[in-house]
This record gives sequence, C-alpha cells and structure tokens, in this order.
Amino acid sequence: MACIFFFSIPAHGHVNPTLPVVRALCQRGHRVVYYETEEFREKIESAGAAFASIEPYMPPAPKDIDKIAGRDFTALIDMIEKTALALEDRIVQDVARDKPALFIGDSVCFYSRLLAKKYGVPFICSTTTFAFNEHSARRMKPRLPEILRMLAGMPRIERSMRRLRAQGYDVSSFTDVIGNDAQTDTIVYTSRLFQPDAETFGENYAFVGPSVMERVPRSAHARPLIYISLGTVLNHAPAFYRQCIQALSGMDCDAILSVGHAADPASLGVLPGNVQVFPRVNQLEVLAGADVFLTHCGMNSVSESLLCGVPMVLFPQHSEEEAVAGRVEELGAGLRLKHPTAKHIRSALETVLRAPSYREAAQRIADDFAACGGAQEAADFIESRIAL
Ligand code: UDP
Repeated sequence: MACIFFFSIPAHGHVNPTLPVVRALCQRGHRVVYYETEEFREKIESAGAAFASIEPYMPPAPKDIDKIAGRDFTALIDMIEKTALALEDRIVQDVARDKPALFIGDSVCFYSRLLAKKYGVPFICSTTTFAFNEHSARRMKPRLPEILRMLAGMPRIERSMRRLRAQGYDVSSFTDVIGNDAQTDTIVYTSRLFQPDAETFGENYAFVGPSVMERVPRSAHARPLIYISLGTVLNHAPAFYRQCIQALSGMDCDAILSVGHAADPASLGVLPGNVQVFPRVNQLEVLAGADVFLTHCGMNSVSESLLCGVPMVLFPQHSEEEAVAGRVEELGAGLRLKHPTAKHIRSALETVLRAPSYREAAQRIADDFAACGGAQEAADFIESRIAL
C-alpha cells in the first residue's frame, strides 16, 4: 500500500471535493497525509487522512483578505510562494521519512507541483474548477478590476518567480507556475458534458464527476423552496441579502439564506415568515429539497445543485465563476441575474420556478453526473499511476 501526500489551498471549495477521494484511498488501505491549515483539520481527519498543519509556514493574511480572496491573483501567488519556501524543509523531511509514492496537489496550490518536480515525486493535479487550457481559458474573461489588479501586481509576481528560481525551482515564467501542462495527469470533479471544450483534453484527464461526501435523497415540501448562498469566500454582502429578503417577502414559497459568519443576521432587518437565515447550512441537504438556487456560481455549489437536479439563478462574482455561469446558461439549467435588486431577483426566481425547461436541463446534467464514477473513479485513476 502506498503513502500519498495531498496539498490544497485553504478554501472549502478546493478541499471539499478531495475529501471523498481521501476517504476512498484510506479505505483501500493507503496512507494519506494532507497539508492544510488548522481550519480543515477536523474534516480531513474524519476522512481518514493524517493532518499536517501548514499554518506555521504561512505568511500573515493581508488585511483586506475578505475583499480580495478569490479575486486577487497576485496575493494568491505571493501567499503560495512564501508558504512553499517556508514549508520546503519540512516537506523534504517528510518525504525522506514517508517515501510518498505520489503528490496530489490542487491546481492552484502550485507549490505542490514545483516541489514534486524538484524532488522527483510523481504528481497528479486535482482540479476543483473547470480543467484549464488555452480553449477553456478563453471563457474566463477577467473583469476590469481583476485585470488592473493583475497588471499592478506583475512586479510582485516577478519577484516571487525570482525567489523561487533562486531556490532551485524550475520556473521560467508566471505561466509555468499557474499553467497545468497538457501532459500532467489530472483529476477534474465534473463530467465531460459539463466541462467546456472537453474534446480538447486527453485521456490523462479523468473527469470523474462531482465528488461529494454524501448523496442526500430528494425531499418534498408543501411550497417551493428557494435557496440562496454566495459560498464561503466572498459572502459578506449584507446589502445583497437585504434585496433578496425584500424580493422574497410575500412570495408563495419558503426560502433559506446561507450568509456566512461575517454577516450579522440582525443587520438584515425583520425577516418575513417565509425566510430563514443561517451563517452556514448543510448545503447538500438543503439542495435536496430546493426548487431553485440563487448562487454565486462557485464550481462546487453549481455541481451540487446540478447533482440534485436544481436549476439556478446565476450571480457570478469573478471571472472563474463567470465561466461556470456561462456553461450553466449554455446548457439551459440557469438564468443570469441582470441586477442585484429586489425586483430583478424576484423576477429571475419566478421565471426559473415557472419555466420547466430549466429544471429539465438541470435534470439532464444530474443524470449525466449520476453516470460518473466520482471518488471511486478518482481513486482508481490514482492507483493506476502508482506502482503498487
Ligand atoms: N457550503 C456549505 N454550506 C454553506 C455554504 C457553502 O456546506 O452554507 C459548501 C458548499 O456545499 C460547497 C462549498 O461550501 O461545497 C462552496 O464551494 P464553492 O466552490 O461553491 O464556492 P466558494 O466558497 O469556494 O466560493
């Protein structure tokens, strides 16, 4: 049996889909060591892995992390580069002790790929977004603030690259760091149907479908159930939630809002009787009974919605979510929110609730997802790359 090192960035959306894979590998008798921050310890240990904290090696978080998380690539590169250099000695010791057969690294946690290359450990990329190449990249058109931030950050990125090169990492340019070359074995947590430009990815890409810890059977409700969430990263949006609550007031439906821990529910005003607000919910359980999901279009949220056959109102916040929203629209399973105002929110929710075409399209994708192998297929793929 093998020892496998997993690496990810501290974001639920990037960690969640890997957990069923970790569980499958551990159940097959492999030893998994997972490098993450303390916030994820419990989740990782309950999936069966040994937890290795990267917390002591991380640079202090920028002051405006709540605003830039998920939007500022320069900050992400900077954080990952500094973590890599601080963590390297520890990883080298762990590799010498555990002799891992493989590193599995999140596509954005680029230091895992660089470390694997430097120390000659085989590597598999784990992609919780769409698989990325020159074709799919065209769909992730950055918005102007993202472009400006990136341009302003280029000198900082260049400094990061220089520091990495000075430590013997094989990076000639910024694209070497973020790019996943077409030859790298890659697990993607969606299906070839949902992946845009799927035909441009070879057999070394395993499209295993959504990977979730549990499948919740569909539950019935007396009235339609609307679920609203902006995910776990950029979810501090009290003004938007107030517009949602106004839109829902008087609608013949029930609604659940997941608003994150930063929003003070009291700041959202008096709630109408049909609306419930929580800092966090069991999203799969809620989706199992939902009729429409107003989402920020994080890849996991959209996958989970489609897995449950739930059509969506699409409210993407940055370029990656824009690409996901675009694909949902293209396949007919959702409608884009034109403006984040009560009037438009209500109209979009009512349209998706009423028109059967959205639900039918979501169900077609749900059927396709159900035919994917999920975490077990990912574990088969990983084992096929290990000389057992
Ligand atoms: N999530 C959850 N409860 C909530 C809100 C979100 O369990 O109240 C989970 C959700 O099921 C998904 C993840 O958090 O697995 C969010 O990932 P996504 O990629 O959609 O968005 P991100 O949070 O990374 O922006």
